[in-house]
Amino acid sequence: MTSSGSRATAPARSTPERSQELSTLERFALAVADDLADASATDIIAWAVRAFGDRIVVTSSMTDAVIVHLAATVQPGIDVIFLDTGYHFPETAGTRDAVAATYQINLINVTPSRTVAEQDAILGPRLYARNPDLCCYLRKVVPLERALAPYAAWITGVRREETAARSDTRVVEWNAKRQMVKVNPIAAWTSQQVDDYIADHGVLVNPLLEDGYPSIGCQTCTMRVEPGADPRSGRWAGTGKTECGLHL
Ligand code: SF4
Repeated sequence: MTSSGSRATAPARSTPERSQELSTLERFALAVADDLADASATDIIAWAVRAFGDRIVVTSSMTDAVIVHLAATVQPGIDVIFLDTGYHFPETAGTRDAVAATYQINLINVTPSRTVAEQDAILGPRLYARNPDLCCYLRKVVPLERALAPYAAWITGVRREETAARSDTRVVEWNAKRQMVKVNPIAAWTSQQVDDYIADHGVLVNPLLEDGYPSIGCQTCTMRVEPGADPRSGRWAGTGKTECGLHL
């Protein structure tokens, strides 16, 4: 199922009640992080659903549907955000559509405020090549901020072994920048565990995974990598950039 909106209702952002809620949420996240450090992914998601009800959302890049499958198993109908930058591979859009049709989720396709053509007209063509940080900010970070606003927490598929910046990821974190709880149920999983879960449960995957793309982002910024190479080495190759900014 797809949707362009959200079922959750946001409290006002700047009221004293909201400030009180935020400090409570922060304390809550910090207190539970150690308790759940060694819990299973489904137990972590089950805790998050009990804690936040319909004010929790999953984000997925549609590289694979592992985190979607886990979340939908625990909470059928859960909201899932996909950031549709306008630069994705057709295979990624196809995976998104297949995931929405296969799993019991409410797929929310989030787009930037400007189309690629509109951005090109204002900032010039190929911003991704000239200033990828600004391009990611406009086409990923800002749209995600807007999409997350109704929620108190979000579930990601971030894993520690993916990048150096993710190596200290905890299963429950307080995201001070967004004033939200961030839940990373598979933070400790290895690539082998991901592959095993996909095989055991017949989870949908992006066909590009079998075509030399172990990490998949926008088509403009993702290259094939040689077998055995760092899976993320095809992302923004040659620029020194390793993260889009969503998880920093
Ligand atoms: S990955 Fe590339 S095309 Fe996609 S938003 Fe970032 S810079 Fe732009």
